[in-house]
Amino acid sequence: MKKALPTGRTHKVKVKKPLYFSIKEKLICPYCGNRDEFYEIIENATFLIHYLQTDEGTLEPVEEEAELMGPIRFYCGSCNSDLSFLKK
Ligand SMILES: [Zn+2]
Repeated sequence: MKKALPTGRTHKVKVKKPLYFSIKEKLICPYCGNRDEFYEIIENATFLIHYLQTDEGTLEPVEEEAELMGPIRFYCGSCNSDLSFLKK
């Protein structure tokens, strides 16, 4: 006698939460096509770094504050063109 196979499907379908990927447009330098390296220069920035001196006489930074007055300029890391207009 054969054992009766269990009837009915028992496997559960795991419901995955939908993943939303925000599709971000990649920045591409319009002058040289570079899309890997960029750098930013922030003018008029004031940094306040709070140090604690250790027993060995070294300074340990414990807190950093930055006040950015701008403007922030964004540059291509390859041809150094000003790409500030590309960055939103
Ligand atoms: Zn470039």
